[in-house]
Amino acid sequence: MDLKQGTAKTAFDIAERLRDGGHTAYFAGGCVRDFLRKQIPQDFDIATTATPDQVEKLFSKTVPVGKQFGVMLVIENQKNFEVATFRSEGGYQDGRHPTQVKFSAPEEDALRRDFTVNGMFYDPFAQKVIDYVGGKEDIQRRLIRAIGDPAKRFEEDKLRLLRAIRFASFLGYEIESTTWQAIRQRSNEIHQVSPERIRDEMIKIFTRPGAAHGFGLLSESGLMKEILPEIEAMKKVDQSPDYHPEGDVFVHTKLLLEKLKEPSLALALGALFHDVGKPPTYAIREGRITFYEHAPLGAKMTEEIMRRLRFSNQETDAVCSCVENHMKFADVQKMRSGKLKQFIARPNFSEELELHRIDCLSSHGKLDNYVFLKNKLAEYAEEDLKPKPAITGHDLMALGMKPGPKMKQVLEAIYEMQLEGAVKDREQALAAAKNKIKQLDKG
Ligand code: ATP
Ligand code: MG
Repeated sequence: MDLKQGTAKTAFDIAERLRDGGHTAYFAGGCVRDFLRKQIPQDFDIATTATPDQVEKLFSKTVPVGKQFGVMLVIENQKNFEVATFRSEGGYQDGRHPTQVKFSAPEEDALRRDFTVNGMFYDPFAQKVIDYVGGKEDIQRRLIRAIGDPAKRFEEDKLRLLRAIRFASFLGYEIESTTWQAIRQRSNEIHQVSPERIRDEMIKIFTRPGAAHGFGLLSESGLMKEILPEIEAMKKVDQSPDYHPEGDVFVHTKLLLEKLKEPSLALALGALFHDVGKPPTYAIREGRITFYEHAPLGAKMTEEIMRRLRFSNQETDAVCSCVENHMKFADVQKMRSGKLKQFIARPNFSEELELHRIDCLSSHGKLDNYVFLKNKLAEYAEEDLKPKPAITGHDLMALGMKPGPKMKQVLEAIYEMQLEGAVKDREQALAAAKNKIKQLDKG
């Protein structure tokens, strides 16, 4: 491991300070796994014989994030390092949290960890991996394997059911067969985990590389049925073969997930949920498979799912917008320029455009609407897509109109004319408004 620069150097310095204080200090967990995979680790966790009180004394900036479990945060060079005392855990009660921890030797600390690939240490002074659990072989075999008896390990902590899927998808690994059986047998126990923790795992599975692999594993393990039954319901829902030669709604969605590259949360979950409204709207009309109004229904369903999993309002709104609007991309070439400009000026547009692109590539493959919008974006680049409205409600009140739906209708019509260039200033806007009011009054 290159310990001479960057975060690794800072982690090394922390380990050195611990060693100089008379303690053993190893790098632990994910960073050792990443090093063996020839990836540069992002964060470094450190495991040590020092107790939290001793850690507090050795470093100037610490936060007691889990002091009773032996976990301290050390802040050096504006970076956080988890420094944890070697420990073993005893007695799990609620399917999630150990009831007690005991400070212990490194080997016992390795045995309490979840998966072999996550259970190794690295001695930064000897520059050697310390592997009590067979993690090295499993990295070579590309396998996620529970440490010890899988059944027992998932009994202790149900979050590990999802963590297994998360690591398998991100690393592109398979899950070893007894570990896999243990997950499948207990998938319905995932509800012992709080919705917030389930949400955090979902975010990691779908926004990191391997989302499509994770999607498949969630379904095959039975966890999808428990957490997102609305997605599981997309399986075997057939689609019209001319638009969707790729297959059913589930297969189509998986193809979108394969095309994500460092997606935002809105794009990742937008892809996951964009067709969630299809299963309940499936209908055969005149010999054709149809899904009328699946986008607005899908947006409602997405809102319900995201509330259930305690996503923030802002996150929920962004994803719902992706779902709600995804079918409108089919009409962009028919939109009047005023409508089109408003469509493009929406805050979520760039994510929705990318969703549209991967939606097309995962079905019929035609990108004409995408190319059209890209050209329009270039054409409009210099233009102000959100100019100040030339007239307001006050102007219409001065013309004798009362606030209400009719006033809104007039203001919207005039604003669209302004975007289309049919109305250039306030004077023209007022004249157009008078006309519009007359038209509306005539019925
Ligand atoms: P990430 O990229 O999400 O930070 P990571 O491998 O660092 O991944 P963490 O969730 O940060 O994983 O946990 C750090 C280490 O602590 C893991 O590698 C594992 O050894 C151990 N660990 C974390 N959570 C659990 C758990 N629920 N059960 C057992 N061991 C765990
Ligand atoms: Mg970590």
